[in-house]
Order: sequence, then structure tokens, then C-alpha cells
Amino acid sequence: MSSSRSRRPRFIDPFHPAEIQRLVREFGSPLLIVDCERVRAQLRKLRRALPRVDLHYALKPLPHAAVVRTIIEEGGFLDLATTGEVQLAQRLAVDPARCIHTHPIKREEDIRNALHFGVRTFVADNPDEVRKFERLRREAQLLLRVSFRSSGAVCDLSRKFGCDPEDALELARLAAELAIDVRGLSFHVGSQAADSGKHVEAIEACARLMAAARRERLGTLDTLDIGGGFPIDYMQPAADIARFCAPIRAALARLPRRVRVIAEPGRYIVGPSAIGVASVMGRAQREGHWWYYLDDGLYGSYSGQLYDHARYPVEPLRNGGERLPAVLAGPTCDSIDVIAENLMLPKLEPGDLIIGRAMGAYTWASASEFNFFPRATVVSVNARPDDAGSVQSVPLGAAGGA
Ligand SMILES: *Cc1c(COP(=O)(O)O)cnc(C)c1O
Repeated sequence: MSSSRSRRPRFIDPFHPAEIQRLVREFGSPLLIVDCERVRAQLRKLRRALPRVDLHYALKPLPHAAVVRTIIEEGGFLDLATTGEVQLAQRLAVDPARCIHTHPIKREEDIRNALHFGVRTFVADNPDEVRKFERLRREAQLLLRVSFRSSGAVCDLSRKFGCDPEDALELARLAAELAIDVRGLSFHVGSQAADSGKHVEAIEACARLMAAARRERLGTLDTLDIGGGFPIDYMQPAADIARFCAPIRAALARLPRRVRVIAEPGRYIVGPSAIGVASVMGRAQREGHWWYYLDDGLYGSYSGQLYDHARYPVEPLRNGGERLPAVLAGPTCDSIDVIAENLMLPKLEPGDLIIGRAMGAYTWASASEFNFFPRATVVSVNARPDDAGSVQSVPLGAAGGA
């Protein structure tokens, strides 16, 4: 199920009300509309904020072919973490030299699949994982992931992964004993970071560790991976990206010249690049509030409100009229499935559309089909600069498909 609008001369703004209505007429509801032009814009903004840092898009927040293609066409790189993500990159004929594999814990078959694709750089954070590469030392090299706890981040990724900074040298020594090349260090301070203080601390600590490891000749040690965590606006605004990155840039400028710096942005690239579109299925008046039941909810694209602790700005496409107390609920029979309460909304009719903003990251990716309500159809728009306005949808069941 795909169609092309390649004869349209200009980019279309898929977030414009008339375009949203047109896409719903064509592809149904619920939708996740991904604007590849906004993906490009986010990538460029982060590049300007972090010049000379190679940006490896982390697929996890939105593992979708149109996003991956857009990143690659823009000269970006990929951060793959699972066999499924490797297969998506492989299907799209991405150059494996542009990819790294960053899951600190891998099955032998995950490593094999990634190596078979052609990925050469992997991440390890403990002795068992380092030993998995003993026989692969001629094909694979490692980044050692170090943990810097970040209680300020909404999602602290340093609790689950990463070795203590005090153990990093010992881990590098083990790799050196096994003749596995340590290319450098990596960290992820946590997603949607409140400020860049943790990044700066981690960069400085890693610089000291890499210098110590170099003195012991424990590997090539020419790469520093500063992870993701770059924040975006939700209901709560985030720091401007240039301002957020300025201290990071200053810290990176103090690194030795030959260190290649890479980052693994996920949320920042796709979060603002997509909106969720849901339809009112029915309504009821309960205790002085209008309850509107939508065809997408907490078990679908709004799953990020649970897993990712995000609050998306939601609003009806319909405007005007008297505003009444309202609740937006998801479609399932579970009482937890409520998107937003205490809203003041115009009176909505079945079929009215509800728009969720900043819904590209950790939304559709973590949606389920609980109660047999299908996941939103992903529609990508403005896929190619020379193919403006092209529209593609992913049929049901083809998660991350072409
Ligand atoms: C999830 C993840 C990312 C992306 O993080 P964001 O905060 O979304 O930028 C990057 N690297 C790794 C290893 C991850 O697990």
C-alpha cells in the first residue's frame, strides 16, 4: 500500500490541517505522519551544534525505513543495537562502514548477524562480553561503555548499562590481553537530558581514562562516543540545542586532535519530525466531562506516556466553539488507557481528528496491539529532496518495513 505524489512541485507540509485530513482520507486512522524534511532539519541543526561530530542515528526511537534512508542520504551514520535493526539497515543496502553496533549485551548470533552485514565496531561493558570477541579479534573492535549515573535525565540509561569508570582500565587491559582492539570509550548519560552537565563530566572523565589507557598501550583509543540524550520540547520546553551543546563543544575541543568523536542521537532526530493523528470513535458525558474515545491510546502511539514518561501536546483539529471540560481516552477496555484529562475542548463529533505533537520518538516504536486495536499506520512524507511530497505508508504487520 503506497502511492506517489511525485508530480507535486513543492514539499508539502504534512502537519497542515488540510494535508492531515487528506492523508487520513487516503490512509485511514490512526496515523503516525513522519515528515522526512523535518528529520533532515533536525539532523542539520544538531550538526551545526556539534560540528565535526559524526552523528549515528539510533534506530530505537523510530526504526522506520524512511527515516533511515533520509539519514543516509544526508550523509549520516547509524547506531544499530539489535538483529532486527541490522536487518533493516541491510535491507536498505546501507554501507555497513557507516554503522556501529552499540548493545552492550549480545547473543553470539546477534554478533554474527552484525558481522555478516559488515559492522566492525561493537560495544562491551563487562569481561564476559569482551571475551565474546576473543575469536573475532581480526574482524571486530570494541568501544567500552562507561556508566555515569544521571539522576537528572528522564530515562537514566546508565543504571542498566556501562562499567564503573574505576573498572574501565581493567576492562581495557583484559581486551588487550586477548589482543582485541579497543577503539575507544562510549557512554549514554540518559535520554532527554535536562542539561549538558553530565555529558561534559563524562567527556572529561573519558578523556582521562583514554589518556591512561593510551599510556598503557591498551588499544587504538582514537574514538569517543558521547551517546544520545539530546532533548526536545514536549509539554515542557527543553533547552535550545545550540545552547545545550555549547559546553559539550567546549569540552570536545580539549580532546587530542586525533580523537574521532561520534554521537548517537535518537529522540532529537525523530521526536519533532512526526505527529500522531487519531479519530474520535465515540463520546459520552460522565460527571460533567465529555469523554472522547479515540482509536489510538496508551497501548498504541501514546505508549510513550508510560514507558518514556513524555507528555505530548494534544489538540483537536477542530477549532472554535464553546470549550467544555473534556477527557481524551484510548480505545481499549482498560481503565488506565487515558491520554489526557482536565482539558477544555470544543465539542467533538465522532470522526473528529486529534493531533499529538512531537510524537516521533518512543511512541509507535513501543506501541502494542492490545485488545486487537492495530498500531497506527506510518505515513512518511517528503522522503526525497528531489521527490517532493512523495507519500509512503507501512502496511499493518510490516513494522519498520519499506
Ligand atoms: C536509546 C539509545 C540512544 C538514543 O538515545 P536518545 O536519548 O533518544 O538520543 C543512543 N544510544 C544508545 C546506546 C541507546 O540505547
